[in-house]
Amino acid sequence: MDIKALVRESIWNLQGYSSARHEYDGVADIFLDANENPYQSEINRYPDPFQLKLKDRLSEIKHIVPDRIFIGNGSDEAIDLIIRIFCEPDKDNIIIFPPTYGMYKVSADINNVKTIKSSLTADYQINTSDALSKINAHTKVAFICSPNNPTGNIMKRSDVLHFIKNFNGITVIDEAYIDFSDGPGYSDWIDQNPGLIILQTLSKAWGAAGIRLGIAMSNEVVIGLLNKVKPPYNVNSLSQQRALEVLSDEADFNARVNQIKRERERVAESLLSMELVRKVHPSEANFLLVEMDRAAQLFRYLREKGVVIRDRTRTHLCNDCLRITIGLPQENDRLLEEIGIFDNQESANKP
Ligand SMILES: *Cc1c(COP(=O)(O)O)cnc(C)c1O
Repeated sequence: MDIKALVRESIWNLQGYSSARHEYDGVADIFLDANENPYQSEINRYPDPFQLKLKDRLSEIKHIVPDRIFIGNGSDEAIDLIIRIFCEPDKDNIIIFPPTYGMYKVSADINNVKTIKSSLTADYQINTSDALSKINAHTKVAFICSPNNPTGNIMKRSDVLHFIKNFNGITVIDEAYIDFSDGPGYSDWIDQNPGLIILQTLSKAWGAAGIRLGIAMSNEVVIGLLNKVKPPYNVNSLSQQRALEVLSDEADFNARVNQIKRERERVAESLLSMELVRKVHPSEANFLLVEMDRAAQLFRYLREKGVVIRDRTRTHLCNDCLRITIGLPQENDRLLEEIGIFDNQESANKP
């Protein structure tokens, strides 16, 4: 695949901003190069624009060389940058697979880039023949979310592979929830597929949504483009520091992920025993998509009780569905208790 042919010409030719910290990478005691103020402590210096310490650590965890990692202000920043690098406004388009994460289309809209939609099948898988028939010469980027938000399932590998092999564009696989999945994900495909970008994040399984730390993994050419287009200091120093702390304890991380997965199964089973629940969709993420009677009413009832979940009843292919994030065991207990009360009231009211 010819990456250069897919990139907007102005971006390929762009001379990126060269920051003071970028130009000097040796060892020194006195920094008088960046117009910083010498009197504050700890935060008076600009952050490392390429987050090298953090990439070294991520490299160990993800088993990929640092030059194949991009770090963004959340993966939402990477989504926007990818659209801006590859899609000429008012000319190119992206393809998405609804129901899916909302930011792909929002970012495309902001950039005046059209969005082609190829609906998932009834069991939430990619319809590859539909997708391949809808793309055209201006389709530059495909966003595949696996495990998918809001449905929770992973996409079949044979479908993803078939799509990638037949799509002359950039395929982004958003793996925000991959650590909750039993599947291996797609990061080991980067070598063989030059148009592939994998997105991950510290916001979900790592429990650090507040520091805004997103990860893109791809080949060196694509990572170089992301680095060139990003704001020079896109990840602040407090976030970089905190991310290193968060990533230092893998044992703790694994324990918490396993706990959430166990709770996910417990909550799913409990929900299934309730009369109003019609279906709990199988999930490889930290949430459940639940189809039930009187979903919109239950959503409002729970909100009045101080329990907020996500109403997906108006989402494509998610009729009568609510999306429930797995919380602490005691939070999940409260949720189940309130749904139980609502369920009993409902059955009592039945003629
Ligand atoms: C939550 C979520 C993200 C957001 O990631 P940030 O790193 O917090 O920006 C990305 N993709 C999907 C599918 C998500 O659900």
